[in-house]
Amino acid sequence: MPSPILKETQILQFRKLLLDWYRANARDLPWRGTREAYHIWVSEIMLQQTKVVAVIAHYHAFLRRFPTLVSLALAPEQDVLATWSGLGYYRRPRMLHKTAQFILREHHGMLPQKAVELRQLPGIGDYTAAAIASIAFGEPVAAIDGNVERVLLRLLGLPEGKSKATMDILRAQAAALLEPREPGDYNQAMMELGATVCLPRAPLCLQCPVRELCKTQGEHATAPRAKMRSREVAYLLATRKRRTMTEVLLAQRPSDAALMADMWELPEVPLEQVADQPVLLRVRHAITNTNYYVCIYPARLRQVQEMEKLKTTHGWVRVSVLNTLALTGLTRKVLQRLDLMAVHMPQLPKRRTASKA
Ligand code: SF4
Repeated sequence: MPSPILKETQILQFRKLLLDWYRANARDLPWRGTREAYHIWVSEIMLQQTKVVAVIAHYHAFLRRFPTLVSLALAPEQDVLATWSGLGYYRRPRMLHKTAQFILREHHGMLPQKAVELRQLPGIGDYTAAAIASIAFGEPVAAIDGNVERVLLRLLGLPEGKSKATMDILRAQAAALLEPREPGDYNQAMMELGATVCLPRAPLCLQCPVRELCKTQGEHATAPRAKMRSREVAYLLATRKRRTMTEVLLAQRPSDAALMADMWELPEVPLEQVADQPVLLRVRHAITNTNYYVCIYPARLRQVQEMEKLKTTHGWVRVSVLNTLALTGLTRKVLQRLDLMAVHMPQLPKRRTASKA
């Protein structure tokens, strides 16, 4: 095992500086202050690759709909996807759902308490296992996500990169730095530092509580980012009135689709088939390395009739129930812009101010 780089006195100093800063500055996020393992698990899965502000509204809605692990395990998958709709990366709710069913079957509906046992569950990796075990059950185990990794690399003056030697040093140092008496707060403090101060670009070193111990005090030189691709796509919008109710025609994606299987969307149409039609709405939508330039066209009667014949994949849906359907993020965005469904605006939590002595 590689030897830790910081000295014992520096480690003690680091823990104190970090935890004092966290207590005075931590954002008041809804999943902080709970020791309910299921809630922590849901929040950790939602936060993967997703901004905090987007997670907050979905976190409340998800726990209102599935307040316990058992209620999640017993729900139909379409309900789980519908409640997740708009957060993206739909592999996550499918895995959450399947893992809840596994826990119900194999562990009587209770999440295991040790990181090493949590790690055995499908869909729970090293980081999530350590986060749940330390925050919910107080196990002294360091949680290392991308934010924490960046803080540690900069703190220790190590180059960016994931060579085995670097990762060995990183893990050994993470374990040595961990405050064993308060592992949950310590891990959350490291994540908070990475998310709000030790930012990937332009870190706020002058506000950093551990600056005096940091060997980098700034950004790493980074490899250039992958270039964004562009793609033009077209969708049709068909609506109709049924008494006082408005309905919209949607299509369900195939079960074997590589992306967003089984989810509902506006019917896509080849660009050449709408070349002579006026555009109703243009939307830009980015997914990983692709910018989609999306045009929405009002469907013509002939197009509606053809889609209505595709009864197994296409159907009219009342706008009042759109929120209960597993819509793709793009379709949700378009329907909201067209005022066909409600928008929920989450509030970004304010930072707590330091209490005066
Ligand atoms: S001093 Fe700067 S680079 Fe170092 S840990 Fe703090 S914010 Fe990150």
